[in-house]
Amino acid sequence: MNSLQTSRNLVLEQIKNACKLANRSENDVQLLAVSKTHPSEILQEMYETGQRAFGENYLQEALDKIEKLKNLEIEWHFIGHVQRNKTKHLASNFAWVHGVDRLIIAERLSSQREASQAPLNICLQVNIDAQDTKDGCSPEDVADLVKTISQLPHLKLRGLMVIPAPNNTQAFADAKFLFEKVKTEHAHPEDWDTLSMGMSGDMVDAIDAGSTMVRVGTALFGARDYSLK
Ligand SMILES: *Cc1c(COP(=O)(O)O)cnc(C)c1O
Repeated sequence: MNSLQTSRNLVLEQIKNACKLANRSENDVQLLAVSKTHPSEILQEMYETGQRAFGENYLQEALDKIEKLKNLEIEWHFIGHVQRNKTKHLASNFAWVHGVDRLIIAERLSSQREASQAPLNICLQVNIDAQDTKDGCSPEDVADLVKTISQLPHLKLRGLMVIPAPNNTQAFADAKFLFEKVKTEHAHPEDWDTLSMGMSGDMVDAIDAGSTMVRVGTALFGARDYSLK
């Protein structure tokens, strides 16, 4: 077995055990392979182990990989910060965008998504633990954003995405509470099914709190070397 197969099996096993501990079905939690900084050959190898959902943070790097791997049936997720002038590329090339945190971004994604494509899946990024960052809307704004964004035609508003500070386990519980609370604002509540939280270091806690999608990079691919970029 190659090393990517080994690491993926280990991560899947961790997810399964975390689900068991939390009394949840292992099918409730999806594994998103975060492949930023890794070359397309490595993604292809990971694909061959059975992985289909890949997450990327940097648009140009992602577009290069999408082009190189266009013959594979990869579900591409954009998990980086969404800049207003990049929405066109996101709308046409990705299946999911996790970092939507303002109405104007959602409106642009919706109007730029081709009607011939499936609706673009999006998550609202919430700054759940009031970190000093410009990414993520504040928890108080989520209900209104859900109400408005869920009515946009070419989007499917799936849920929330959070990146709490390391070791802030309470933040996962807060995100789960907010996720349940704002569901009633959604124009199509049956679409509201995704809580994107948990990374290599904290996926067990995130799953315990109710995560439905863990975004895992290091535990699958090893440490990232940004100097190669
Ligand atoms: C890089 C990244 C991850 C993966 O982090 P690891 O600690 O390598 O698992 C997950 N989510 C986001 C938003 C990221 O930028």
